[in-house]
Amino acid sequence: MPRRFYLQTVGCQMNVLDSELVASELLGAGYEQVAGPSRADVVLLNTCSVRQHAEDKIYSALGRLKELKDQRPAMIIGVLGCMAQKDRHEILRRAPHVDIVLGPGWLDRLPSLIEDAAAGGGPKVEVSLDRLGNPRAKVERSFVTFSPHRPPTTRPIPHQAMVRIMFGCDNFCTYCIVPLVRGPEQSRPAAEIVEEVRRLADDGCVEATLLGQTVNSYRDTSGSRTVELADLLAMLHEIKGIRRLKFVTSHPRYMTDRLLTAVRDLPKVSPYFHVPAQSGSNAVLQRMKRGYTVEEYRAMLARIRDFVPGAAVTSDFIVGFCGETEEDFRQTSELVGEARFKNSFIFKYSGRPGTKAAELFEDDISEAVKRRRNNELLAIQDAICLEDNQPFLGRTVEILVEGPSKVTKKRAKQGEAAESPHPSPLPRGEGTLIENPLPRSEGTVQLIGRTTCDRIVFIEGRPEMAGQILPVTIERADAFTLFGKIATEDNK
Ligand code: SAM
Ligand code: SF4
Repeated sequence: MPRRFYLQTVGCQMNVLDSELVASELLGAGYEQVAGPSRADVVLLNTCSVRQHAEDKIYSALGRLKELKDQRPAMIIGVLGCMAQKDRHEILRRAPHVDIVLGPGWLDRLPSLIEDAAAGGGPKVEVSLDRLGNPRAKVERSFVTFSPHRPPTTRPIPHQAMVRIMFGCDNFCTYCIVPLVRGPEQSRPAAEIVEEVRRLADDGCVEATLLGQTVNSYRDTSGSRTVELADLLAMLHEIKGIRRLKFVTSHPRYMTDRLLTAVRDLPKVSPYFHVPAQSGSNAVLQRMKRGYTVEEYRAMLARIRDFVPGAAVTSDFIVGFCGETEEDFRQTSELVGEARFKNSFIFKYSGRPGTKAAELFEDDISEAVKRRRNNELLAIQDAICLEDNQPFLGRTVEILVEGPSKVTKKRAKQGEAAESPHPSPLPRGEGTLIENPLPRSEGTVQLIGRTTCDRIVFIEGRPEMAGQILPVTIERADAFTLFGKIATEDNK
């Protein structure tokens, strides 16, 4: 029987969580996880369909895996997740060496599918029902809840966990493939979520991030009273051991005063909102079918800042959506300039076959214009990030220490001597290797942590500090990172 698996993940936090769950199932079934495909008996690609680029990456990876499979025909290749749901026939046509095609609604079946594939008899395909043309209740049942308990060792940072509270989406924004590949919106029962977080806390987890495509529309109606996100946060707040709660991604339409009050009044809930605007032009928002105007988005921002002063807000934007004029783009730039987001994630529009936008509108903005608009918007946001981090200088903030930073891990791999400090000019957060410019003392390494409003902070400390919440005095502030020193009575 195959015993070693390699799992590669593309895409959003939902996919990262799915991969964690899949890995823990396989580890529980006696498999060993390996760091590359060359030693693996089973190679799994957990895929994303939100943009074409993510799909291209998977087809390239499948091309490279063909050579490996030619050398080792017993190797099993599985394509999991959103692409599997969307393009099952296309995957087998373009990559006939694939053995398993498994949609995101049936991930619990992976161990048995691997056994079936090892027994031979051609590719095994397991996907949920198509949303169009099937009754909703039947489609819902074909997207199965998969939230097995997983040990902390399966998480990159054992003290932090993601917890799915909802599946799917009913919004059908015209550009978006998610409702088709992740199925109808379904909220998990609150009692089940509370139990999951309690078990995570018992295992030492201190921070839970609640996940949903429109997480603030969470609504559990299965019990005697309806539980909304505000109620769920209050229930999770009671769990001993949990010290921080976050939730992503919010939709502007469901940002109720009740939820804002809960964030304000529950000290464990981070004052942090990821609430994508997508565009600053009403004409574009309407074509995107986002369900709000830019005036309503601005009013929502004002309410967030009114209820939760000092809250950090982040956003997503799509540039170059069908028919986006220079004037539309100017209005988006204006919104980014005035909203002072903690950060914005900016994407070039990518037409997705099967969506309303692909059917109704022409993808008429050239790649060059999309790139220019993307860069211009990034420049506005980057300048704001740099400016808005400066007031942190000299302040003492609480951070949750996640563990050794990438620089530390790289050092450990290469040995100190091989390392040379090359500070990067404008790092975009934790993805970038950056040396701490502050002096290091004996026995310490560079650690990465986050403030309650999700700002990245580097400190020098001992690896055992991972999982602790520590006061840190900020001594340097770049656009995407703060550098600090653990506050003691002397330097507070
Ligand atoms: N549910 C979240 C929301 O409504 O804000 C977003 C989920 S989506 C996986 C993450 C981001 O990808 C979106 O906010 C949007 O900016 C971007 N996105 C989605 N479809 C896209 C497309 N066809 N082209 C470019 N970006 C896209
Ligand atoms: Fe996609 Fe819109 Fe649903 Fe977000 S709310 S997942 S962008 S359809």
